[in-house]
This record gives sequence, structure tokens and C-alpha cells, in this order.
Amino acid sequence: FDDRKNSFGPNIEIESEWTPFKAKIDSFMGQDKQWRAYPIVGGEKVETGNTHLVQSPYDHSQTAGQLDWADANTVSKAIDLAQAAFPAWSAHSASERADCLDRTADLMEDNYAELIALCHREAGKTIQDSIDEVREAVDFCRYYAQQARSHFAAPTTYIDFLGQDKQAQLKGRGVFTCISPWNFPLAIFAGQIVAALVVGNTVIAKPAEQTSLIAMRAIELMHQAGIPTDALHLLPGDGATVGAPLTSDKRIAGLAFTGSTGTAQLINRTLAARGVAPVPVIAETGGQNAMLVDSTSLPEQVVRDAVHSAFASAGQRCSALRVLFVQADIADRVIPMIRGAMQEQSVGLPYLHSTDVGPVIDKKAQTILLEHIEHMKSVGTLIAQSALPDFADKGTFVAPTAFEISSIDQLTDEKFGPILHVIRYKARDLDKIIDTINCSGFGLTMGVHSRNETTCARIANRARVGNLYINRDQVGAVVGVQPFGGQGLSGTGPKAGGPHYLQRFAIEQDL
Ligand code: GLU
Repeated sequence: FDDRKNSFGPNIEIESEWTPFKAKIDSFMGQDKQWRAYPIVGGEKVETGNTHLVQSPYDHSQTAGQLDWADANTVSKAIDLAQAAFPAWSAHSASERADCLDRTADLMEDNYAELIALCHREAGKTIQDSIDEVREAVDFCRYYAQQARSHFAAPTTYIDFLGQDKQAQLKGRGVFTCISPWNFPLAIFAGQIVAALVVGNTVIAKPAEQTSLIAMRAIELMHQAGIPTDALHLLPGDGATVGAPLTSDKRIAGLAFTGSTGTAQLINRTLAARGVAPVPVIAETGGQNAMLVDSTSLPEQVVRDAVHSAFASAGQRCSALRVLFVQADIADRVIPMIRGAMQEQSVGLPYLHSTDVGPVIDKKAQTILLEHIEHMKSVGTLIAQSALPDFADKGTFVAPTAFEISSIDQLTDEKFGPILHVIRYKARDLDKIIDTINCSGFGLTMGVHSRNETTCARIANRARVGNLYINRDQVGAVVGVQPFGGQGLSGTGPKAGGPHYLQRFAIEQDL
């Protein structure tokens, strides 16, 4: 875990590696390949009759498959089974459970082509994003397996000098609910689940409505890897039918959530209203992420990193750059370079090598983003807008767009897509700017570009963010290298992919 890449995936620049890899992916790309997903409870696929078509975000005339949403009976059966399965699953040794995670990672690697094709067809992810998605899911499995073996396998002994040494063991809490987002339909989905499981909890997973096909394949692989079918259940569906009872039921012993800040607040209120013992919530939510660029920075690097951080994954990352602060002295050099880089970006079909930016996830997201672009036209000055392909109307594309604005106060909530806001600042205002960013309440990522070490240290010291990146892009945290998570409105921590994550899923019990 000391490199930006693990062993999975080809070098896509080398044809002899890439061509056979891509050919396997293409075998899942034809319209004749359709997936069929259901709630999976106790290992059984439940046909509920509440069936939804899954359209591909880049072309709504194409489908990736069909999906049945869970109903109330299915939800309550899953909770019963997960509760009953807890004693047996938690009685396994941590290393037996970790073995299941390693086997899951192996199976994900074996099935990379199907998983990548699903990332294209269901989530509209580009080639690089899809490879990274599988890679991150594999990394989560292997990293948490390793963490569990080192921290959960044996009890900790506390030496008491009066001769009464004590031992304490980290153990599972019970049934965990895992609610995950569509923007990392495999990596975050799997990361939450395997973390909860490896500690000894049983799990009920609710994937995002938009990306349940890939979730179902992941669950099948986990069961195939040896995770008992009554210890892990999948409930696709909406918040009202699935998310609400998985939060309000008194038997839920903890909850992992990635998504909007508003939903995290609702989850907290619902859990508290149960009137039973408080349980841990591990929430990773939104951001209003800034990058600060001073006059000592290298403009070419700033532009590459800012454009990548704002527009890669069509800006649909919690970590993505939303507000670029450029010191006024270099703004007239940097802004035209951003315009130039944006003109070079190609927006298109996610499964083509030539595409930099794919579609956004669905119509609702597209409408919110287009409305924001219209609004910003009256508030700021348009810097650039990348060109859309002529088939853009077939799917939900949003052209990457950058505006210059005068103050961060002109922005309200997070807009989850490829829209960048640029603000000029004077060097003497730097501290004030950091304070304003802190005051937004969000604290997820921040980028800094400066060749002045004192400035970097000053910003690092003042900024209240979970992930601070210096002289590089600010997306794509690597498991075990850049543990990921925010503060304040951006989440509770502990950081995913870091050494403290698993402990929050556990109780510490004296023996
Ligand atoms: N971990 C991802 C990154 O570093 C972001 C996760 C998210 O968007 O929820 O880009």
C-alpha cells in the first residue's frame, strides 16, 4: 500500500497489455448482455415485482438491465436473519473473516472485465475511473483484512502493576447498516461492507438506487468468497422503503453512510428517536472544496491538477475541487491556461479511450447542474465551457464549465458536478480566506499550490479539512496511503482506508 497503484490493471499506454484487457471488457459491452438484480436475503434472490429499468447515463435508449426494489417484508426478513446470524459470524476468528476479504479481492480481480463494464454501463464511468474503482475496492478488501489480522486477532493485554493484568478484545457490535452512494458504486459500497464484516458484524447493505446492478455482483462475489449468506444481505430500493427501516429498527447496532450531509443529519435524528442505546454512525458526506494557489506556484502544474480535480469523474466526487483561489498577481496567466485546458477536454462516451469526461449520473443531477450554470451566468463571468458531443442529448451530459466569481459567499450548497469557480485573492488576505472556507462548516479536501514551504505550513496549520494535498491534485485518495474523510459538515471520521477505521465498527470488551 505504499504506491499509487496496486498490482491490478494493465498499463493502458502499452498496447500489448491494454488490447487483451479491453477485449475482455468489450465482451460485456453489447446490448445483448443485460444484468438482472434483486434483493438478496439469506442468499435468495427475492422477486418483489417492483421492477425498474436501468438506463445507461450516456444513452438513455440503452439499458444495462433490470432491478427489483425491496419491499417492507424483505427488509424485515433481512434484519431478522442478520440478527440471528450475528453470534455465529462473530465467533469466527478475525483471521478467518480476513481470509474471506482476501478471497473477495481475488474474485474482484478475476471478474474485473464485468465489473468495469458495469461501471461504464450503469454508472457512466470512464475507463480510467472504472479501473480505479475496481482497484480501490480490491485495496479496501486487502487493507482491512491486513488491519483485522493485526488488531483484532488477539486480545490486547493491559499490565496492571498490582498483578491483575487485564485483557480486552475488539469485537463486532451486531447488525450494521451500510448505505452507499452511486459515485463509487463498487469501491465505497464494498469498503463499508467488508470493514463492518471483518470486525464480526453482520451487514445489510443498501446501495444507491442508480447503481444496484454492480452492487449485486459485488455481493455475489462476497458470498462466493465464503461470507455466509445469512451474515450479508442486499436491499436495493429507495430511502423511504429501505433506508428508513434500516435506520429506525431498534436492532441496528451501527451504521456506515456515504452521501449528502442532509441525509446524514436525518440518520442521526432517526437513530436518536429510537430511544435505545446510542450506536456509532460513520458518515462521509459533502464538501465545498478549495484549492489555494499562490504566486510561487508552477502554473502548468496548477492547471493540470485543478482541471483534473474539478472535472475528472465529471466532478462527481466528494473530494472534487469546487473553488479555485488564485493569487491576483498570477491570475491573468493561470485563467487563460485553464480556458485552454478546458477546450482540449473531450466529453463523450465513457468506454472510449479518447474520453476525458463522461456523463453525469441522471436527469435529476443534470437539471440541478444546468440550473446552477444558468444562475452563475448572472452572478459571475464565464471563463470557459468544454464542448459537448453532438449525441449529448441522448444521455445526461453536462459540459465542464468554469466561472470567475468574486466571493465564496456567492456559493451556497455543494453542486455535485463539473463546475469550477475561480476567485482572485490578494496575498495579505490569505488567512481571512482560509477562515472563510473553515466557516462554511465543510472540511473535506483542500489543495495547495505553492513553492514556499512557510506558506504551505501556514495553510496546513489553519485549514480545518480532513485531506490536504500539496502541489498535486486533490482527488483519488489511495487506500492505506491517504486515509480519506472529512470534518464538520463533511463527516464524522474515522477516515476510510486508514488505520483507525475498523475500530469504530467494534466494541472493546474486557475478557
Ligand atoms: N475517496 C474519493 C477521492 O479521494 C472520494 C470519495 C467520494 O467522493 O465519496 O476522490
